[in-house]
Amino acid sequence: MPQTLPSAIADARAILGRLGVDPAALDGGTLTARSPVTGEILASLREHTADEAKAAIDAAHEAFLAWRKVPAPRRGELVRLLGEELRAAKADLAALVTIEAGKVTSEGLGEVQEMIDICDYAVGLSRQLFGLTLATERPSHRMMETWHPLGVVGVISAFNFPVAVWSWNAALAFVCGDSVVWKPSEKTPLVALATQALFERACAKFGPDAPAALSVLLIGGREVGETLVDHPKVPLVSATGSTAMGRQVGPKLAARFARALLELGGNNAAIVAPSADLDLTLRGVAFAAMGTAGQRCTTLRRLFVHDSVYDAFVGRLKAAYPSVPVGDPRTAGVLVGPLIDKPAYQAMQRALDAARAAGGKVIGGERADVAGHDAFYVAPALVEIDHQAEIVKHETFAPILYVMRYAELSEAIALQNDVAQGLSSSIFTLNVREAELFVSGEGSDCGIANVNIGPSGAEIGGAFGGEKETGGGREAGSDSWKAYMRRATNTVNYGTTLPLAQGVVFDV
Ligand code: NAD
Repeated sequence: MPQTLPSAIADARAILGRLGVDPAALDGGTLTARSPVTGEILASLREHTADEAKAAIDAAHEAFLAWRKVPAPRRGELVRLLGEELRAAKADLAALVTIEAGKVTSEGLGEVQEMIDICDYAVGLSRQLFGLTLATERPSHRMMETWHPLGVVGVISAFNFPVAVWSWNAALAFVCGDSVVWKPSEKTPLVALATQALFERACAKFGPDAPAALSVLLIGGREVGETLVDHPKVPLVSATGSTAMGRQVGPKLAARFARALLELGGNNAAIVAPSADLDLTLRGVAFAAMGTAGQRCTTLRRLFVHDSVYDAFVGRLKAAYPSVPVGDPRTAGVLVGPLIDKPAYQAMQRALDAARAAGGKVIGGERADVAGHDAFYVAPALVEIDHQAEIVKHETFAPILYVMRYAELSEAIALQNDVAQGLSSSIFTLNVREAELFVSGEGSDCGIANVNIGPSGAEIGGAFGGEKETGGGREAGSDSWKAYMRRATNTVNYGTTLPLAQGVVFDV
């Protein structure tokens, strides 16, 4: 018989209260916030109507007009204060991420730490939004590029990184002089309410330079997201979620010449080469494939193992899989929590059936006996299969690792690249030629290509994002701030003549 886990409702409400969310906002609405940990309904939130959403976006546009006049380093001070609020609230916000998204405690804490890190990064960035000075062919002229605030940045986020994705976008957008309208996943609205409350605390400390509606939260499902995508006063929408979502959002933004920053699905692979350090590889593969119950965009889903180490390595992997503790993510020692909901469980079972039909040998994958009927825990699945069947080429957002053999590295790289998605990838090897080939232009075609570390886990300093069907967007580090600003080229003539373009004579 399934056990009943300790209720999460009282804890969730106590945390929301401590973080400053009005208890009156938690009941009486149509959007139910559910915990995947226990299956309980935590709250029922009121959803924004289309008219309310449009009015909120208009208000954010007004906020942008004021905020763009605040000097960038002063804007950075607001983000510094946000980082302080996040530090103070780290344990609470992380616990809420665990309750609402089902991440184990250490992953919930890691998610909030990413928010803190991007705030620190953005504070420094607020003094480095610089452009180039360009050599001009015209005498007594100076030419330069300048970067200006862009406008309202729309952020649409997925359930599996319910707060970090907002912060990756918002921290940069705020220092760049933009306002932000956030449509979080309908599966994780409570952590969004909590984050918004923390932002408002930071604004109260910052003072009147932060206009009302600098950060706006829109509660609701896909329709509310569509309102954001269609609004003419939103010049950039950063949307994180499935490829299906990106296919709808991308063309709509293109039709009105707005910018899209798309972070979509992944179908990430790793190659285990003959020289791989197998102890290190085992840990890297296990975490990347089973962490967050396979619900990371960077989850390892395909593994290509060289013939010479296949039996030794896959034998160890098969022994490790059943021993990984699956259970209540609030409990110390548990490494794999629940799937987000029943459709996720059903999609996993369909994928495993398809893999069996294609000749795959499946270990694990069955529902785990952890909680009542409304929570969906599964044993992570390992599928040995002799070819890259159609099902292997799809992202199933669950802990399924397909394992295949290879003989030549060129063959393994070709198979790795032979999927529509291009997010993350790795090679495990101690051979410098193999490692360098993998990260070269002839190697992995993904936005992230790693050596001796799994495909999951990102640092805010490196721009995060993928290629191909993953959308081509980049968030967080490197020069991704430029997506949140507009560039102008300015030419100043400080001479007494007016040289025209090459060869042009225009005397009046
Ligand atoms: P999802 O596509 O179901 O939903 C994501 C968000 O998009 C939600 O807020 C949803 O309401 C909104 N949405 C859906 N259709 C829309 C539309 N037509 N217009 C506007 N908004 C719309 O994704 P999910 O199940 O929440 O998340 C899992 C998916 O997200 C996986 O595919 C995963 O790989 C991907 N993901 C990618 C990254 C990345 O950085 N590449 C990060 C996290 C998750």
